[in-house]
Amino acid sequence: MGASNMDSYRAFMSERRAQIVERLAQAARTSGRSADDVCLLAVSKTVGIDEVACAWDAGYRVFGENRPQELRRKAEGMAAIPGMEDVRLDMIGNLQTNKINQVIGCAHLVHSVSSLHLAEAISKRAVVRDVRVRILLEINVSGEASKSGFSPSEAREALEQILEMPALDLEGVMTMAPAHDPQAARSTFSGLRELRDTMRSDSGLPLDVLSCGMSDDFGIAVEEGSTLVRLGRIVFDPAYELDV
Ligand SMILES: *Cc1c(COP(=O)(O)O)cnc(C)c1O
Repeated sequence: MGASNMDSYRAFMSERRAQIVERLAQAARTSGRSADDVCLLAVSKTVGIDEVACAWDAGYRVFGENRPQELRRKAEGMAAIPGMEDVRLDMIGNLQTNKINQVIGCAHLVHSVSSLHLAEAISKRAVVRDVRVRILLEINVSGEASKSGFSPSEAREALEQILEMPALDLEGVMTMAPAHDPQAARSTFSGLRELRDTMRSDSGLPLDVLSCGMSDDFGIAVEEGSTLVRLGRIVFDPAYELDV
């Protein structure tokens, strides 16, 4: 990007951020919550390090990537930018067991633990490297065949085993809602919250993190209790239309 394009991108980005924060605050008010209880994660998977630096300057502090290799690359790029040392980078995408080493020790939180097999593999690698890994269980609440993750009943069944895995800290659950269907999105998010409540009483753990809500549906997600929204296009893409 040239310097003047970068200037207009910067302007877009802070204006857009103000709109996002306003909508988030509205949704929080609607449900009697505080906007401070919702973490805004910027999904940087489609942009380069220059755009990420812009986002940092606009006020974003938490970023997410969905590919292990790109996560590593971004982490290194961010570490090289003065002032960005405290950045938080999360893994939000599908993780194959042969890529685990790229992610642990680098991602702050892994949102996408979608099977018992993967949880076991992460814990084993983490023990070898003497690190702990914060995780969320990815839940396929809507039951769509195209989505990965535990079904709600599988998640409840897996809970005990996961809590016994030595290197994992389970912090909550994550889901993705069906696209272009606000009603289905709402019931997906409320279903995630209800599952979390059940798992909370099953385990006695806080399980505070409800990772749900993307560009098209984050207002609904916050109304239904989301504590972490993952926003990609709405943050980074000037062509994304915000319907206000
Ligand atoms: C890409 C992605 C997002 C962001 O989606 P947008 O619709 O661009 O906001 C959120 N979560 C996951 C897991 C993603 O892969």
